[in-house]
Amino acid sequence: MTLDRIHARTIGSIPKRRFSRLLLRWFDAHKRDLPWRQNADPYRVWLSEVMLQQTRVTAVVEHYQRFLKRFPTVKRLAAARESSVLAVWSGLGYYRRARMLHAAAKTIVREYAGKFPTTAADLQTLPGIGRYTAAAIASIAFNEPVAVVDGNVERVLQRLREKPIAGEQLWQAAGDLLEENRPGDFNQALMELGATVCLPRQPKCLLCPVFGMCATRGELSRGQKVARQRKRQVQYTLDCRNGSIFLVRRPKSAGLMPGMWELPETATLNGTEPLFTLRHSITVTDYIVGVVPGPAPQTAAGNWVAKPHLSKLPLTGLTRKILRAAKLI
Ligand code: SF4
Repeated sequence: MTLDRIHARTIGSIPKRRFSRLLLRWFDAHKRDLPWRQNADPYRVWLSEVMLQQTRVTAVVEHYQRFLKRFPTVKRLAAARESSVLAVWSGLGYYRRARMLHAAAKTIVREYAGKFPTTAADLQTLPGIGRYTAAAIASIAFNEPVAVVDGNVERVLQRLREKPIAGEQLWQAAGDLLEENRPGDFNQALMELGATVCLPRQPKCLLCPVFGMCATRGELSRGQKVARQRKRQVQYTLDCRNGSIFLVRRPKSAGLMPGMWELPETATLNGTEPLFTLRHSITVTDYIVGVVPGPAPQTAAGNWVAKPHLSKLPLTGLTRKILRAAKLI
């Protein structure tokens, strides 16, 4: 037997065929019933992949269904106004993703007559679609044998092997293990393993379908540092008069959430007793948010928005949360 043939059957010390057989059998039996798995339509796959970037599955499910109801096809999304897209996206954060989604939808309609490109290479030319998302859409929706590497896949691959690997080596390792006959399922299975079994802090190795082929069996998790959350206090003014709320709009040039509407922020030490407080987390910061009654600060330039119009505006996630807590939307 030649060295090449031996390598094709065993990737490093992992027997490729046995690995994919066990992984896919486990995936077929245990995969989560998620709405974007109901069919492999590229628009649905794309939407779920973009929403899942930096957002937990449980938070995405509700937003995904709401977004799909409002924009059921790529053509409907392309024809929408940006403010409507941002309004439906509100609550998911990282609004640049929504803007890129909208821009890519327009490109697909304008340059591809509303049909998605079918290869990862072509998909990657669209706005906001990087290597990972292109490979996910191409493999799941079009069966192209291309591997994906996200945070979950990276962790699983690191733990499966004795020696740490990084960067391009990870893509190579994922590609070497890929089951070409079911590339979309294989990619989802490896991500699912990372998301539900090979967990960052405490991997459930005894439930793992590829336990017998894992070099570390979770040992790498020891010594990994847990990111420390920062804490911050912020305060917003809720000024409500004659059925309208005073809101300010972030400048178009703002680095974060440009053009989104929010309550005016005020200094936390102005001595006003809050109406209520709530907690809000963004990446590594936990905010304790105080909501104080009006009047809005004199310096804030903004608009009075009638209550029925509030939910149609692209609000920041935190403002939406405050208005919900105050039962105004
Ligand atoms: S055996 Fe444990 S560490 Fe290895 S892949 Fe499975 S869950 Fe992860």
